[in-house]
Amino acid sequence: MDAKFNWVWMVTMIVSILIPLAAGWQRGYQDYRVCRFYGQEYEAVLGRIEFEAPMDYDVWAKSSEFIDVRIPKWLGKMEGCEIIIEDLDDAIAATIPQKMQGNEKSLEEQTAFKINNGDFFFEGYRDLETIYTWYDLLEHTFPNLVKVEIVGETWEGRALKALHISTNNPETNPEKKTIVVTGGVHAREWISVTSACWTVHELLTRYGQSKRETKYLDYLDFLIIPVFNPDGYAYTWQHDRLWRKNRQETYWPSCPGIDIDHSFDFQWNSTEEFPCSEDYSGERAFEAIEADSWNQFLNTTKGQYKIHGYLDFHSYSQEVLYPYAYSCDALPRDYENLLELSFGLAKAIRNKSGRHYKVLSACEDRGSDLSPGLGSGSALDFMYHQRAHWAFQLKLRDTGNLGFLLPSKYIKPVGKEIYAAVSYFCSFILNPEL
Ligand SMILES: [Zn+2]
Repeated sequence: MDAKFNWVWMVTMIVSILIPLAAGWQRGYQDYRVCRFYGQEYEAVLGRIEFEAPMDYDVWAKSSEFIDVRIPKWLGKMEGCEIIIEDLDDAIAATIPQKMQGNEKSLEEQTAFKINNGDFFFEGYRDLETIYTWYDLLEHTFPNLVKVEIVGETWEGRALKALHISTNNPETNPEKKTIVVTGGVHAREWISVTSACWTVHELLTRYGQSKRETKYLDYLDFLIIPVFNPDGYAYTWQHDRLWRKNRQETYWPSCPGIDIDHSFDFQWNSTEEFPCSEDYSGERAFEAIEADSWNQFLNTTKGQYKIHGYLDFHSYSQEVLYPYAYSCDALPRDYENLLELSFGLAKAIRNKSGRHYKVLSACEDRGSDLSPGLGSGSALDFMYHQRAHWAFQLKLRDTGNLGFLLPSKYIKPVGKEIYAAVSYFCSFILNPEL
């Protein structure tokens, strides 16, 4: 049995064993729909909804042109609402592996399916346990290239794990130049998790086979954390597919969870949001355990590493966002180069798949231009200011019709287009003159 076959076989075995264990669903959303409101003031739309259905709605996305909100159906057809998802439970089901929905295939069918598909792992979304088992398998298969490291422990006692990918060659990478990639900061953004895993897969399997990846791994280190919010991610599988925050206790007992992406200690301020809000920032910077552990891990364990680049994957909107998020008045250093690199990332994606990703400042996306504080405490700003020379947030597919509920058939196409951007980013960092 050659190494490649062995590896594929082991992944498929693990995935098929673990999927049924995760079953045990789950909050229903039959009484909700997602509406898009065009050309209206953000505050005015939310004011109307808040008045009718206090705290019973959820903002999915906002931009200068529109705002997407999940609202209860009993509100009727609200003025200005263009329905983008009417049947949320159907859309949720399209993201769950079939086996968990009780549509089991026969053993023979599954086996035939597995053998014909080398990258079975990416045929569907995977729960945390399966992903962590996959990490161990990677470490086992590529012992000279990857090491699973523990960044910290979450509120519910899960390990926050990073994959450190490196050839550990002091001659080719004497400065320990490093690229950091994170996914899954927001629990429901599953496509960000699979795209980070896809990046890991491409780097490892192409090393020694392709000139490009061989060069990347010889001259760069990678720290990749596909699931930055393990508790939240596990919760989306077990209880609520649309959960966003971590699962940490707050001062309000019935509303756990801090928005990790509002917790980093750079320009942090309290968002004045109630703990029940999806954007709740906590009561102090680094209150979110994941953000705090990551800071300590970077400063102590990886203190010697020079972080040249940071990419933080989120969804949805198809956007390349550059710093800063907290304010549109703060001018980032190297602004022109940063902008050029942003367009380079978007172009790499377009060349790969034809998909258009919009380039804009993170402050516009977060709405800090309209309401100061909305963009405070982001991982993007923190990494850009503290450690990484180049830093971006990529908001992956789609532009709204499926939102956070991108069906699993999109895992590979999105993985491929995002890897094209990662690859462009690595080439740029190795040769900024490009
Ligand atoms: Zn997000």
